Amino acid sequence: MTNEWPLRSSTLRERTATAVDDPVLRANVGAATDRFRTKRTSALARLHDPDALRSAARGVRGDILADWAATLELLADNVQANGGHVCWAPTGADANDYIASVARRIGASTVVKSKSMATEETGLNEALAAAGCDTVETDLGEWIIQLAEEHPSHIIAPAVHKNRDQVADTFEAKAGMTERVTEPTELVAFARRELRRRFLEADLGITGANLGVAETGSVVLVTNEGNARMVTSMPRVHIAVMGAERIARTWDQADLVLGLLAKSGTGQALSSYTTVLSGPRGEDEADGPDEFHLVILDNGRSDIAGTEFAEMLNCIRCGSCLNVCPVYHQTGGHAYGWVYSGPMGAVLTPLLASQTGHGPGEDHHVGELANASTLCGACMEACPVEIPLQDLLLGLRRRNAEHAGLAERSMWRAWAAAWSRPGAYGASATVATKARRLAPLLGRLPGGSRWTDGRDLPDLPARTFRQRWDAGDV
Ligand code: SF4
Repeated sequence: MTNEWPLRSSTLRERTATAVDDPVLRANVGAATDRFRTKRTSALARLHDPDALRSAARGVRGDILADWAATLELLADNVQANGGHVCWAPTGADANDYIASVARRIGASTVVKSKSMATEETGLNEALAAAGCDTVETDLGEWIIQLAEEHPSHIIAPAVHKNRDQVADTFEAKAGMTERVTEPTELVAFARRELRRRFLEADLGITGANLGVAETGSVVLVTNEGNARMVTSMPRVHIAVMGAERIARTWDQADLVLGLLAKSGTGQALSSYTTVLSGPRGEDEADGPDEFHLVILDNGRSDIAGTEFAEMLNCIRCGSCLNVCPVYHQTGGHAYGWVYSGPMGAVLTPLLASQTGHGPGEDHHVGELANASTLCGACMEACPVEIPLQDLLLGLRRRNAEHAGLAERSMWRAWAAAWSRPGAYGASATVATKARRLAPLLGRLPGGSRWTDGRDLPDLPARTFRQRWDAGDV
């Protein structure tokens, strides 16, 4: 497949229309996010004071990013002291070039990968294909969507939009499954058999990094399938690709973040496998790669620091905001058009795009993502590091408004001026009340049906709030 994301070739309206017209997709996404949400609620209920932990995590992330450059340098120094190599990648293309050069140098023909949103961001699989490598995703969800030639639709559960029958269809059509099975355990057993031989063939293993820990030069990988352990120990070379903000200075900081990551994302006390890697295999060690490389990916992140959107760099990619978002619940992730979806994607995608020019591109198709929210605030409440997503979305909308045409800006200014004066507000409300019966005609105006289709205007009460207020009834 190509790495052509639909962000720039279609509008948000077109993508959401496609998604909401697909009842199977909505049922699949709804069931999965409901399950994650329920499990998260129970996991947090077992904590003594989850809100205090969230505040502490926000404080820790803030401390880390206040000392970001020095912490990254410390990480790089310690990775090298452990015998690893470090690549500073200003852009996704730089990261891909470095990884492809390593693959060429070692003569890699088969590459196994574990789940990594950073490499989705850089389009690594396509770059490796151009370098002559056959890349196999080994996270079950990633493997399913790789076979189906689709993109991930959730940052922690890439195939969340598919049900077991659809997975079986994909395995039959694309992975040579001859005896159809649909039970999850049987589907997993089939995937395990197929993937096991690819681990054995692979020359190069590539992972993301949930966290880099600077004080020991370590990379932490969190998975539920254990595939990352195979990716990092069976091929002779391992490359980890880490978004530059995914860092902690100390293990105490990492401990706090990792505990909240699992509880917030999947509702587990801790993920099934938490793997810590500190360089290549040592002389007295039985397992591990001969070479270890850490690619530190900037790709626009450092330009977000110091702006009004800097708190977005605190994101630990838990997926919790997706699971509680009523918009994501209805549309799934593909409607967002790029790697990151849900509320965090609606913020991060325009930021990465506008800061770098190396992301999906800054145009109205990207900017309009900030409109993919009801501003209900559920995402802010769910975020384990208290990122003010709603405020950031409003900030992006403000930024978009600066590019609005003169007519639109004049209209909003006039509205704001009128509704800032009690008399003018009352007069406009009276006019609107009297004109209420003309509302059905709105749908006949050019573009009016966008408002009236799918909306039922409620009947007006007999008296307005002001009339009730003036009469002392409220
Ligand atoms: S914004 Fe918060 S809730 Fe959403 S993925 Fe990031 S850390 Fe999780």
